[in-house]
Amino acid sequence: MVSFSITETQQMLRDLAHDFAAEHIRPKSEEWDQSSEYPMDAIAAAHEAGLMNLHVPEAYGGMGMGVMDEVIVQEELAWGDPGFATASYSNGLTAAPIITGGTEEQKSKYLGMLVEAPRIAAYAVTEPGAGSDVASISTTAVKDGDEYVLNGAKMWITGAGKADWFFVLAYTDKEASYKGMSAFIVESDWNGVSLGKKEVNMGQRASDTRAVNFDDVRVPAANLVGGVEGKGWFNAMTAFDLSRPAIAAHATGISRAAFEHALQYANERKTFGKLLHQHQAIQFMLADMKTKIEASRALTWKTAWEADSGVRNTESAAHAKRFAADTAMEVTTDAVQVYGGYGYSEEYPVARLMRAAKVMQIYEGSSQVQRMIIGREITREL
Ligand SMILES: Cc1cc2nc3c(=O)[nH]c(=O)nc-3n(C[C@H](O)[C@H](O)[C@H](O)COP(=O)(O)OP(=O)(O)OC[C@H]3O[C@@H](n4cnc5c(N)ncnc54)[C@H](O)[C@@H]3O)c2cc1C
Repeated sequence: MVSFSITETQQMLRDLAHDFAAEHIRPKSEEWDQSSEYPMDAIAAAHEAGLMNLHVPEAYGGMGMGVMDEVIVQEELAWGDPGFATASYSNGLTAAPIITGGTEEQKSKYLGMLVEAPRIAAYAVTEPGAGSDVASISTTAVKDGDEYVLNGAKMWITGAGKADWFFVLAYTDKEASYKGMSAFIVESDWNGVSLGKKEVNMGQRASDTRAVNFDDVRVPAANLVGGVEGKGWFNAMTAFDLSRPAIAAHATGISRAAFEHALQYANERKTFGKLLHQHQAIQFMLADMKTKIEASRALTWKTAWEADSGVRNTESAAHAKRFAADTAMEVTTDAVQVYGGYGYSEEYPVARLMRAAKVMQIYEGSSQVQRMIIGREITREL
């Protein structure tokens, strides 16, 4: 049997996340966008409410929730404010490779840090010269006794300005290509770690995005993720099977917010003697928006279900992330169209949502990269 019903506990979790978003996030969305203020108070409140670090296993003090639970929560948080969702989910993305590949000591120490207090961790893979093409990174880690000496520059790192620790991808053996990559946990206050200025982004301005430089940073060998060299690529990429469902849920939340605004506006604004939604052209636009949102959520829930069921979800996560991200861009653009001139003004929320939607097609693997993954998966057996 195929079921689309969520459990009573998941319904309670959704209600909790929705009420939290309505009370603590949405009312601040415009202000955060204008001021670029990092939403640390709201992140602390989310931590207190049990809406952060959902995946961390109970053995390390977490709630041990599944990917399905995560996507339910993340859709609501992004509905509240996409920048808040990106900022707070930095922990989800960064914890994922530690949960799947870290040593017991690493899990206990670094996942424990995230659950015991409102703290941020950041995933540092992208570099100025290497985004989609991860194998082109230049960061290196050279073994020196019981330590590694880390050198390199990372770019576009979410949460970097607030992070207590970073997941960092580096080459320990450049000759071995991606099999020569290793991952490290690097604490932000270690000598040689420095930050760039907060980037001025098109949207999602509550989130903090910066460059991070590592200059002769001495990393204890105990912080080599998993304790084995050459597993970095695997660590970094498997994290995406857990995180892309959450990013697809963010995109779905953005689409839903834009659709709700557009529907409401179409029921207020009159042209040619009728409410906007009584014009078939507008009603069909709203109908298409809703269909795409339903499809985004269905793909997101399917990949989340696969991840929780132990089914390899690389392809389904790419479908969900690509479709939901492209849908968010389309639906927010259509929402602006429904508002007409008012949609183009920053006085109304749909312009902000349209700006927020764009990055969904870029980060965590762009829409082109998702198609490359799907293409690779569907031609694997040919
Ligand atoms: C707000 C924000 C937050 C981010 N947060 C993080 C983070 O926390 N951690 C982190 O490590 N990174 C982060 N990133 C980086 C993000 O993952 C990269 O920007 C993304 O992977 C694309 O890399 P790039 O910008 O170098 O673009 P490029 O790789 O240079 O690509 C440029 C364009 O070409 C397309 N393209 C590239 N190769 C191909 C190809 N073979 N075929 C077809 N099209 C192609 C891409 O889709 C893109 O449209 C963030 C980025 C932003 C903007």
